[in-house]
Amino acid sequence: MLKNEKAVVVFSGGQDSTTCLFWALRTFAEVQAVTFDYGQRHKLEIDCAREIAAELGVKHTVLDMSLLNQLAPNALTRDDIDITHEEGELPSTFVEGRNLLFLSFAAILAKTSGARHIVTGVCETDFSGYPDCRDTFVKSLDVTLNLAMDYPFVIHTPLMWLDKAETWALADQLDAFDFVRERTLTCYNGVIGDGCGECPACQLRRAGLDKYVGERQATV
Ligand SMILES: [Zn+2]
Repeated sequence: MLKNEKAVVVFSGGQDSTTCLFWALRTFAEVQAVTFDYGQRHKLEIDCAREIAAELGVKHTVLDMSLLNQLAPNALTRDDIDITHEEGELPSTFVEGRNLLFLSFAAILAKTSGARHIVTGVCETDFSGYPDCRDTFVKSLDVTLNLAMDYPFVIHTPLMWLDKAETWALADQLDAFDFVRERTLTCYNGVIGDGCGECPACQLRRAGLDKYVGERQATV
């Protein structure tokens, strides 16, 4: 536990980053959240993040990253592009370099807030082809940020080696299972909680949830 330390959580209002927010609240003395507004298909995502941060009493900053849409038009930000995910290819929701940019901006916010810890929900286990979500990239960026700002940043990735079922287990350990299940938004169609059930994000979330709930029942 790092009870004298401050942290900034990269926060989207989804399952993963909300679990990370609960983890950070258990780990650090002071926690704030940062959400990036890059013209998401559903503004609801930002509202959802705002509501969760307010409910948990966490200072919340929304940064305008709409330039991402200008650089990398894609299915998350453009209604006229369908969400597809062909085997072996990057999903059409991919924004090139997104995580690199988000973590860099989070670091600037962290340093100006006197925080040296940055928490992100990136994960290599359910690796969907995002090169800047890999552990080796995050470690490399950590070094780069330290050099860039001459500041001892530590990037934390509590979900890096967890699968979706284990992420649910972590939420449960943090007494946040129901909160994460009911209040977070993962669905590409903007349906909070269990979602639309149809889109790739809902299917991934549901598969992990079913696996975890099944395992939990098996151990009772
Ligand atoms: Zn959905």
